[in-house]
Amino acid sequence: MKIVYVMGWGRSGSTLLDTMLGELDGFFSAGELRYVFNHFVKKRPCGCGRPIDECPVWRPVMHRVMERVKLDNDLRKAAAWQREALRLRHLPRLLQLRQATPGGPLAHYVSTLKATYEEIAEVTGNTVVIDSSKRPSDGAVLRLLPDVEVYLIHLVRDPRAVAYSWQRRRPQGDRDSDMQRFGTLVSSFNWLTWNVMAEVVCRRHGVEKCRRIRYEDLVADPRRVLQDVAVLTETEGVELPTLDDFRVTLLENHTVAGNPRRFQTGTTSIRNDEAWLHRQSLRDRVVATAMSAPLLRRYGYKLRPTVSPERSV
Ligand SMILES: [Zn+2]
Repeated sequence: MKIVYVMGWGRSGSTLLDTMLGELDGFFSAGELRYVFNHFVKKRPCGCGRPIDECPVWRPVMHRVMERVKLDNDLRKAAAWQREALRLRHLPRLLQLRQATPGGPLAHYVSTLKATYEEIAEVTGNTVVIDSSKRPSDGAVLRLLPDVEVYLIHLVRDPRAVAYSWQRRRPQGDRDSDMQRFGTLVSSFNWLTWNVMAEVVCRRHGVEKCRRIRYEDLVADPRRVLQDVAVLTETEGVELPTLDDFRVTLLENHTVAGNPRRFQTGTTSIRNDEAWLHRQSLRDRVVATAMSAPLLRRYGYKLRPTVSPERSV
């Protein structure tokens, strides 16, 4: 089986990429899979709208996992191992490891994660699982899973757009609270550090297993990006879900967590959200540009951004 793991800092379009890839034949869109253990316990909504523990995909998957790795019917154990072993500050150590210490929390977590991927494939009949958990530390741990082909997608977006998105108030979509928010300084610092970490993790896995995708290229030409991922994962020839260059049809998905847009189905217009170009304050623009300057050019972003000529909101 194959795993496509999407890495990068939040608000970069990972849910859009994840759900679009999920439309490819043989691909399963899991969303931010690292939250499945907690969300199953808390009965949070799946992308299909049902509580995850009542979803026709996740209910059998997680019961099989609990049986296989002797979790005594309690997924909170898996969440605890994850908290203990997979903090971002553990990344340097995780990158050095060849195998997890037997009997430790990381070894338990690796077994649980592998069982989860395998049971997803078994229950859904798909061979490629897309996991957009985004965290580089989780991406590093995938090296420790035996007998699994792992492909990494490093997703980046203009840091000024990302900073603007993190500041906006937006409802969660699945509960009565807003999505987490960060100020420009924090989101831009995290944009820089998470992207550096994502690059390090990609190098550790091997650059031939990785693709860097820019959100702006995804929305400008989704067909080409999906085709690139099909080539990366050696699944060329799959039918693409795009109706034309601007629209995609998304059917019901079973994402466990992610942006509220995971609940939207049907024909969706793909367009670059450039509201930030008109509404972001000069102070925030300057702060975000200065903080992210070391990587701006590397990812093809200008110091002084302009509205893209062909499509804008
Ligand atoms: Zn579901």
